[in-house]
Amino acid sequence: MTLCELEQFVIALGQPRFRAKQIQEWLWRGAPDFSDMKNLPENLRLDLNAAARTLPVEILNEIESADGQTIKFLLKLDDSDTIETVLMRTSYGNSVCVSSQAGCAMGCKFCASTLLGLRRNLTANEMLAQILVAQWKLRQQNHTIKPNGDPNNNDVSHIVVMGTGEPLQNTENLKCFLEYANSRLCISWRRMTVSTCGIIPGIKELTEWGKPVNLAISLHAPNDELRSHLMPVNNKYKVAEILAAAFEYTEKTGRQLMIEYIMLAGVNDSPELAKELSDLFRGKNTMINLIPWNTVAERKFTAPSSNAVHRFQDVLIKEGIHVRIRRERGADIGSACGQLRLRSEKYTA
Ligand code: SAH
Repeated sequence: MTLCELEQFVIALGQPRFRAKQIQEWLWRGAPDFSDMKNLPENLRLDLNAAARTLPVEILNEIESADGQTIKFLLKLDDSDTIETVLMRTSYGNSVCVSSQAGCAMGCKFCASTLLGLRRNLTANEMLAQILVAQWKLRQQNHTIKPNGDPNNNDVSHIVVMGTGEPLQNTENLKCFLEYANSRLCISWRRMTVSTCGIIPGIKELTEWGKPVNLAISLHAPNDELRSHLMPVNNKYKVAEILAAAFEYTEKTGRQLMIEYIMLAGVNDSPELAKELSDLFRGKNTMINLIPWNTVAERKFTAPSSNAVHRFQDVLIKEGIHVRIRRERGADIGSACGQLRLRSEKYTA
């Protein structure tokens, strides 16, 4: 609700207008329950609990990695569908990996998120709720946090739209969500990243929008033949066209283009392919993230050896390409790409 709507709501409950502002502050902190709103009178908290909810999601499950730095939430939506959200504490801040759809229609051959197909797009509020769940968790954990010099240490500082779903199939709600996060939670556009498998009309829409949000392309192969084999979306949008649209985006926004490259043993991890990949990015302001594949039991791939990953990286470095190996986080909690949701839905189906 907007503040005006909230004011009407509390007035209808027989309360003074200023209570709306207090409630709203709690809501933006992510308070999951009206009983957490300590500065409200008890009778109002009870009335609110009977009449309303704070968030359009409910936490079904919460799993923390052994090192406590990664927490995965399984959230239930109003229509009983489930989604996943991951909170990652890093040296540069607190990052939340947000799902943009319940399920996914893209059909990538290595991914768990798409196995049950697409249910529906998430609303802007459902995406925002994922941030607020994480935000509340951070505040609750306040006392256990070691200060790292960042004044926003206890707040969500980064958003990566890399959870389940294809965000550029849900651009209206995505933009609305990111606008809320920027204006209400003061998260900088530059600390937001939208990851896509390469939906060109969506990239163009973001270009027109013009916010300096980071764009990540899930490439995973340097040529159409191999990519179409791994990602059906490549039958529609080709590598050269996707990259042309992506460079147009980064030229307009001034951001560095991020490329994600999952490494699959014996499929896309050869030095020859690394050379071919570097030919696509020479002289371009790009960062390539190499991501050793996270095992998905239902998928018949294997993760490459550390040697293979480093050999691949070395070729790119020699070719003058910015590249890094993405640290695996939360593999012990099924944090990779739709695995928790998949398990929960399978077991309840
Ligand atoms: N649909 C969007 C965002 C969601 S997928 C996109 O394609 O970018 C987020 C990232 O996780 C993508 O790069 C995707 O290819 C990758 N991914 C999917 N399954 C994975 C797995 N098992 N191991 C590692 N990365 C995976």
